[in-house]
Amino acid sequence: MAGRIREDDIATVRERAKIDEVVEQYVTLRGSGGGNRVGLCPFHDEKSPSFNVTPSRGMYYCFGCGQGGDVFTFLREVEGITFTEAVERLAGRFDVTLRYEDGPGAPRRDHAQRGRLIEANKIAAEFFAEQLTSSSDGVAGRRFLHERGFDQAAAAKFGVGFAPRSGEALVAHLRARGVTEDDMVKADLAGVSSRGAYDRFRGRLLWPIREASGDVVGFGARRMFDDDRVDAKYLNTRETPLYKKSQVLYGVDLARREISRASQAVVVEGYTDVMACHEAGVTTAVATCGTAFGEEHGRVLRRLLLDHDAFRGEVIFTFDGDEAGQNAAMRAFGGDEQFVTQTYVAVEPTGQDPCDLRLSAGDAAVRELIASRIPLYRFVLSNVVRQFDLDRGDQRVNAVREAVSLLTSVRDRSKRDAFVREIASVVGVEVEEVRDAARRAASRPSTSATTPTRQAPVVHADEEPEVPVGPSLGESRFHDEREALKAVVQQPHLAADLVGDLDRDDFTHPSTAALWDAIVAEGLPSAPDSSWVSKVAARIDDPTVQHVLSLLAVDTMVSNGEPTALLVGALLARVQELTTLRRIEGVKSRLQRTNPVDEATEYNRMFGELVALEAQRRALRERAISGALF
Ligand SMILES: [Zn+2]
Repeated sequence: MAGRIREDDIATVRERAKIDEVVEQYVTLRGSGGGNRVGLCPFHDEKSPSFNVTPSRGMYYCFGCGQGGDVFTFLREVEGITFTEAVERLAGRFDVTLRYEDGPGAPRRDHAQRGRLIEANKIAAEFFAEQLTSSSDGVAGRRFLHERGFDQAAAAKFGVGFAPRSGEALVAHLRARGVTEDDMVKADLAGVSSRGAYDRFRGRLLWPIREASGDVVGFGARRMFDDDRVDAKYLNTRETPLYKKSQVLYGVDLARREISRASQAVVVEGYTDVMACHEAGVTTAVATCGTAFGEEHGRVLRRLLLDHDAFRGEVIFTFDGDEAGQNAAMRAFGGDEQFVTQTYVAVEPTGQDPCDLRLSAGDAAVRELIASRIPLYRFVLSNVVRQFDLDRGDQRVNAVREAVSLLTSVRDRSKRDAFVREIASVVGVEVEEVRDAARRAASRPSTSATTPTRQAPVVHADEEPEVPVGPSLGESRFHDEREALKAVVQQPHLAADLVGDLDRDDFTHPSTAALWDAIVAEGLPSAPDSSWVSKVAARIDDPTVQHVLSLLAVDTMVSNGEPTALLVGALLARVQELTTLRRIEGVKSRLQRTNPVDEATEYNRMFGELVALEAQRRALRERAISGALF
């Protein structure tokens, strides 16, 4: 593994990466220029835009769900990648060469590589699409699509293509476009034999697999001809620097927006199922590519369905009820509780997949299939119970015991209760009997687990820990601290000469105090610096404080026209004035408790302090008022 990316390179990426340009790959933004740009939040479902991007400060913040941060945070959240990956991607896009603080012998990574491989894939996808419509062999692919109810427009929308049978056409085309053999092989577009590079896909119908951003990262390929040297009906791009089969979801580029908007994702099994769903109006459909739905796929979907930190919405699987599908469902059931209780299954009674169903019964039937979803737990329960002969008493006991073990992953009390009743009714026993079994199972959590894949701890709803709640920063008593910090965050160069007068004591909320510390640690720039806020953010570990910073960076400042140094000074003076007021109250209180005769020295000292504080307060008051006049 390479070491850490050098700090100054991260800073360069931060300076060059235009946050609005990056965000616009995912969200349409209104407004332009140096001011705020707004759009529909990609992190929660909304109808009117509350997602704000402030290009001049390199920050975003959603007033609906509170998500916010800099360009790195955005990419991390929206793509579900690490900070390092976010830096590397942006470095690729904005042409920054990254250097690493390598450990001894650490291999160097090629960071322009990603951009080159994306480009190679793009050229390949265009080439394949062209072959589908124009080549004579492509007829087989066109016939295949036609037989499955897809017209040319559908093929074009999904970028479906055809790989020529010659085995050298793509390599020649890529070479002519300046792609090196090394990159062809790295992208798994070509293999190498003793006679040189050859096409990885030959005589196959191809679906380009894209990331949420729309970049093609690989292909799924279906066998078309009997003489295909590869037997497998479907081939996929192998793992490459771009293509990670445990993460890619076919159709996510087209479905992403609708998944967020509708709070629903439909998981189908194949490329043609995704196409059929979208054509039928189920535009939230995606599919895994040549692998079972796993934890990382779940993470990708959850991110699209995420609302602040709560997962909302439904994930609907269309399993055909075979064993593989059921196992996938069981695995999903072993995932986190929120995911479990919002996971559904749509099973077509005759076992048709969405593509077949659309062909035989039309678009409406596909929409109805999705609408007829049932909760996953009910689906799993019926599969569990089916293994037992419920006419026999001992088998019913076993069925109950097996079924209640599914309860361990459900924490929500009302859902648990509904599940208990359902078990009772499906097995045909009293509700109380199921409750007893559940209690017994809960008291010996590790030994009673009948399905070893589930490790979720038993937590009862009434035992959930309480989250400590501090004072909300939204309270009016913190108003002036918020406004002052907003001024500093938005106009740091104007505040540069003024902040020396303040200290940590001026900030009475834990978040504003922590933010102040980070600002002081970073230091203030003498001239406008669009990456400064982001640098402050990098000094903050606490996500709550990060959010406060994002909010303050994009929130509107109350001022007539451009904020001036005078205004910024006034806002800071107001905070100091409040600190002085607090001190005055403290001295007054002590004075009241001091005897002016017996403790005359102390009394006079405090009285002098009080007079000085009052004078200080008046001066601050004047500064606060004078700034507000302009
Ligand atoms: Zn939001």
